[in-house]
Amino acid sequence: MKKKLLMLTVAGGLLASSAAIQLPFVEAVGNGPNYGGHETVRTAILHTYEEMVAFLKEQDAKQEQMELEVIGQSIKGRDLYLVKYIKNPDHPTILFLTQQHGNEQLTTEGALEFIKHLGTRKMKDVLNHVNVLIVPMLNPDGAMGDVDFPLDDYIASGDRHLTRYNAVGADLNRDHVNKQYPETKALHNNVLRKYHIDYMIDLHHQGANSERDGKLVSGSILYPTSPNADEEVVYRSKQLGAVIFDAIEPTGWGHLGKYVGGSSEAIGRNGIAVEYGISTLLFEMRGMSDHYIGSYVIGQKSNGYLIRQTVVALDAAVRAIADGSIHEKDVSFWDTLPYQERRSE
Ligand SMILES: [Zn+2]
Repeated sequence: MKKKLLMLTVAGGLLASSAAIQLPFVEAVGNGPNYGGHETVRTAILHTYEEMVAFLKEQDAKQEQMELEVIGQSIKGRDLYLVKYIKNPDHPTILFLTQQHGNEQLTTEGALEFIKHLGTRKMKDVLNHVNVLIVPMLNPDGAMGDVDFPLDDYIASGDRHLTRYNAVGADLNRDHVNKQYPETKALHNNVLRKYHIDYMIDLHHQGANSERDGKLVSGSILYPTSPNADEEVVYRSKQLGAVIFDAIEPTGWGHLGKYVGGSSEAIGRNGIAVEYGISTLLFEMRGMSDHYIGSYVIGQKSNGYLIRQTVVALDAAVRAIADGSIHEKDVSFWDTLPYQERRSE
């Protein structure tokens, strides 16, 4: 019985990713398999940094409205990229940031798929009303395991490990006050200070075993919680969260909890909201691509719906800002949305 259910969820995940259709029977897909020590986690299915760069250059050559820019270099000298769609600087602007933590890669996979999607004819009119900035894989050294500390105990098999930290073991999402590392500096100096940005979604992955109302979550969300964040900025962050919640929750595979997060401004969600008045949302996807703790790693059979979750979220955010419907969003769901809890094993 258990095996049958597993097969069903796998099929649902794959179908949902390839065809963008909603499946009526996929109630269980949010409960898709995590690593659990029962399968081999292969990182070869993920874009390497080099493959990502090749993809971005290919899309840049194909897409008239897209611009590709290098905003700096990682500690190990990898170029950091910004993808831009700016029709009119006066239009509202949203920034999507992925992989500050190198082992949280499905968000980048989703962002790349979304970049392709932005090049399609049906998105042309949407991009006439909103500017979109995307910084994919801010931490390429960690993503490629090219770091100055050992990763021998990491779980993924093959010749690539992915780690949260940058090359010298620093957590970039704790560096938004000091801006000590080149990756964080590039983001602040050449993106956050350079453009008038209204909204930002900071995309991450969390452990695989969090639940809400007794069901494993596909992800979790949170607005800025620093006491220094402007009330209006936080309100608009909550509206952005409402857009995402309303897009993900009805999908069948989507089930979101409220993230339990700190108020430190060294964290992007807080610091960027306070320093620049940008309405930020943290979006944590279920499970990581690699880790030394088994319960953090997501089985790759869940990749389909998790990549889809990023694409659906980014698409919903861009559309709601383009047509102004984000301003009508009711934020009261935040008052009743339960904090996710770690499922005991
Ligand atoms: Zn993270």
